[in-house]
Amino acid sequence: MTTIDSRDAATWVAALVPAAHLIGGRTVPSIGGAVTDVLDPGTGRVIGRVPDGTPADIDAAVAAASDAFPAWRDLSASRRAAVLHRWGALCTEHDEELGLLESLEVGRPYQGPASVGNRIVFIAGQADKIGGQSLPTATPDRLALTLREPFGVCGCIVPWNAPGALMVSVVAPALAAGNTVVVKPAADAPLTCLLLGELALQAGLPPGVLNVVPGGAAPGAALAEHPGVRHLSFTGSTVTGASVMRAAARNLVPVHLELGGKSPQIVFDDANLEQAVPEIVRGVTFNAGQTCAAGTRVLVQRGSRQRLVDALATALSATRLGGWDEDVDMGPLINRTQQQRVLNHIGIAQSEGAQLVCGGGVPPGERYEHGFFVAPTLFDQVDPAMRLAQEEVFGPVLAVLEFDDLDEAVEIANGTKYGLVATAWTADVGRAVTLARRLEAGQVHVNAGRASGAIGAPFGGYRQSGFGRTMSADSVLEFTQVKSVVLAGTGASHG
Ligand code: NAD
Repeated sequence: MTTIDSRDAATWVAALVPAAHLIGGRTVPSIGGAVTDVLDPGTGRVIGRVPDGTPADIDAAVAAASDAFPAWRDLSASRRAAVLHRWGALCTEHDEELGLLESLEVGRPYQGPASVGNRIVFIAGQADKIGGQSLPTATPDRLALTLREPFGVCGCIVPWNAPGALMVSVVAPALAAGNTVVVKPAADAPLTCLLLGELALQAGLPPGVLNVVPGGAAPGAALAEHPGVRHLSFTGSTVTGASVMRAAARNLVPVHLELGGKSPQIVFDDANLEQAVPEIVRGVTFNAGQTCAAGTRVLVQRGSRQRLVDALATALSATRLGGWDEDVDMGPLINRTQQQRVLNHIGIAQSEGAQLVCGGGVPPGERYEHGFFVAPTLFDQVDPAMRLAQEEVFGPVLAVLEFDDLDEAVEIANGTKYGLVATAWTADVGRAVTLARRLEAGQVHVNAGRASGAIGAPFGGYRQSGFGRTMSADSVLEFTQVKSVVLAGTGASHG
């Protein structure tokens, strides 16, 4: 494994990532000239300086993507697939750097390569399989068929919590379908996206087909509102997703939204707790709970509550905390604001009467003073109406709620505005079937944890968790529009 001394991280990053935007196949500074510091969230130290995108930079990127569109659209599907395969292979070759870089900027303890290359390769395999239909006609002198065509320039707004995977999950299908793309990574974690863009150029993606302009809300809003953008994908919070959708409405462009969650982990009396507990703990400590799919509501059948609470408290209290370069289980939150947000949620839960079992604040010790740490936190006696049971915390905070039977479990599980992932733990196959049907979520797992192991399973939300699906073969089709074509002769005889 490549090892990087955290004190040298900035030098390593500077060698790896172009400190510039990627526009039209070139690395360029921000038109505004401003730069943003990217911090290691475990220490607060600066690890990179990246130009801060402005609406003018977004204009330039959209113009480059518009110019590149006709040639990319008209390239044969096989050649588009070949370029994407090369990009995937190059990312696999650089898997460790990509994984380390993302760990560093997100603050997640490094636990192995990133595997974004596999995602690109999976989608590359779909690029030459986009086909239409031939349709029946009223008379035999006609042919009717459908074509699936790209939209044009696609805007892709990426959050900071898993920038590499979330970028390629949208960008690869958009490119496979013949679109060109402008990516706007989050200001807190833009480095992985810039390296992915650089690797795409090295793989032979023509200039302007993929452009990357990091920054905050201003370039994000500029991209969402841009009249040159014909399709928008947004991954992030529900509130910002709604504002992106309003912007899209002004230009009447389709939107794909991957938003937040408050995912239930439903534990029945017959569950195997030895199987369930490590998965539940991992679900809320991975990325310090900053994953949209985090199972942050534990719904437990009454008879097992105390046993489960004790097991969760033991496991959460044993969680080792540290930086991305340490051999630990959980890292810090992304920044000071997010740390304060999570601490605020903890305070609200206590004031609403939830019972704090463990954690509940910044871990003690000098080591944790400089980064943005919050200890893994467990609340018992949580009522479904409490804010802790309804609102996404986006931090390592677990809430335990009780139920008596399957009907009550389903009612509580479905009783938030979200519907991203629902997981159940039970030995009863009949109950598992009922749950798979009745749980309102884009993904239902039974006795399978965070990494369900499915390849090509569509990922996306119900209700306010969003709409549209990534990671499946069908996700390529979401970046196409359907054209019906009817062909007839001129009436002359062709005998
Ligand atoms: P966020 O909504 O604050 O930001 C997301 C992105 O939008 C960032 O790039 C940000 O710069 C940009 N942005 C901010 N204001 C904007 C505006 N007015 N117009 C356009 N773009 C704007 O979210 P976040 O805090 O970065 O990410 C955390 C959220 O993302 C959580 O709610 C989480 O659940 C969600 N998320 C969802 C998924 C999913 O697949 N469903 C995956 C990861 C994260």
